[in-house]
Amino acid sequence: MPTRILIIGGGYVGLYTALKLQRGLRSGEAEVTVVNPENYMIYRPLLPEVASGTLEPRHAVVPLRAVLRKARFVSGALTGLDTAARTATVQPIAGPDLTLGYDELVLALGARSKLLPVPGLVENGIGFNSLEEAAHLRDHVLRQLEIASATTDHELRRRALTFVFVGGGYTGVEAIAELQDMAVDVLEGYPELDRSEMRWILVEAMDRILGTVSADLADLATTELTGRGIDIRTGTLLESAENGVLQLSDGTKLASDTLVWVAGTRPQPILGELGLPVDDRGRLVVDGTMRVDGYADIWSAGDCAAVPDPEQGGTCPPTAQHAVRQAQQLGENLLLTLRGHAPKPFQYNSRGEFVTLGKNKAVGEVGGHKVNGTLAWTLRRAYYATQIPTWNRTARVLCDWAVGMPFGHDVVNFGSREEPRGAFRQAAKK
Ligand SMILES: Cc1cc2nc3c(=O)[nH]c(=O)nc-3n(C[C@H](O)[C@H](O)[C@H](O)COP(=O)(O)OP(=O)(O)OC[C@H]3O[C@@H](n4cnc5c(N)ncnc54)[C@H](O)[C@@H]3O)c2cc1C
Repeated sequence: MPTRILIIGGGYVGLYTALKLQRGLRSGEAEVTVVNPENYMIYRPLLPEVASGTLEPRHAVVPLRAVLRKARFVSGALTGLDTAARTATVQPIAGPDLTLGYDELVLALGARSKLLPVPGLVENGIGFNSLEEAAHLRDHVLRQLEIASATTDHELRRRALTFVFVGGGYTGVEAIAELQDMAVDVLEGYPELDRSEMRWILVEAMDRILGTVSADLADLATTELTGRGIDIRTGTLLESAENGVLQLSDGTKLASDTLVWVAGTRPQPILGELGLPVDDRGRLVVDGTMRVDGYADIWSAGDCAAVPDPEQGGTCPPTAQHAVRQAQQLGENLLLTLRGHAPKPFQYNSRGEFVTLGKNKAVGEVGGHKVNGTLAWTLRRAYYATQIPTWNRTARVLCDWAVGMPFGHDVVNFGSREEPRGAFRQAAKK
């Protein structure tokens, strides 16, 4: 009987573990099943470019069925686990629950936005973790420009042109930088608006932005962003967002229809309901080989696991770079285990990092050297062009980038697609 390997989650860890197995497994050695709610993997570092319209949303994802040709794919979500019976309960996209058996289980559920109890946040805010959020924000910002240019109401105009992002980690910095860059770029098509009227505000609780990258790199990014008019408020909290009126801890009160909450992530809550060991941040406790403590047949890595960091000590940061390398070692460890060998600990030395700040703008660190501007931006693109799985996706991303070079950002606001039946319902009324 082939060994049943069940992978829950088809993000970085799920996809790259399955790819490693697909390449390494001998015929009949094991059967691999991957479970994920969507039938694609989101290439999250490209989401800021989806938000600015530089990339088509579909081009920033990897179609799981197309790349995992030797695995079974199930579109659904894990809802329960029976570790004694070695079964997982999965809620498929429709119909009754499925019970999937396993001999080896990989939990790769990633993380979701971490919300704080700020009044009005849920009603008025939006996260920046999914494809839908990134694509929506692009249309939303363009819609705000349309509102501001069309209205004669001074307050409405000011509200529409105020964009507030809470959280100055790399997700928040990349999101505000790309969207502000897009808004400035398309502004020449709005003769009624002046750049100085737009307010872009980045609120960060700590005393500097980009807390996980070096202080030098954070300084470079701060200089770039403030030079472009982005108002960075460090040491500041969002206290309330009721009725779209944002109260900051420094006393500022702003009316805004754009509140993007990027103040951190937390592992999927289901992990705490499975009876497996989790740490104080809700991450699965694993050893250096990424085996869940106390379970010889359950493995985990990526944002949902506290993987010991061989480079810095402590546990690995939640980055795609770490997730990919962990997945490759996890796949290798599954192959070793299947063949009766001991699994090996995860080893990795980061070779660099980049933060995109808009077209031709980025900061980065490669091999200990700081880079910024067009060079950093080009190196970042070159890196991702070589990382995206399949030539099909690489080609689509390269085409989007090539088209974007001579032309500016596209100004089309296609937000109406979020209500595709609106026109049909309207027609029924008349
Ligand atoms: C906007 C943004 C930009 C980023 N930029 C960078 C960057 O530039 N560089 C970098 O190194 N890192 C970046 N990251 C972080 C990086 O994307 C994550 O660290 C990485 O995705 C973690 O991989 P993962 O496999 O653990 O989780 P994910 O890639 O998030 O995958 C988890 C998968 O599990 C699925 N899932 C969730 N719940 C269930 C369930 N109950 N059942 C089944 N499946 C489930 C999810 O749908 C998802 O497909 C960025 C993150 C974001 C949000």
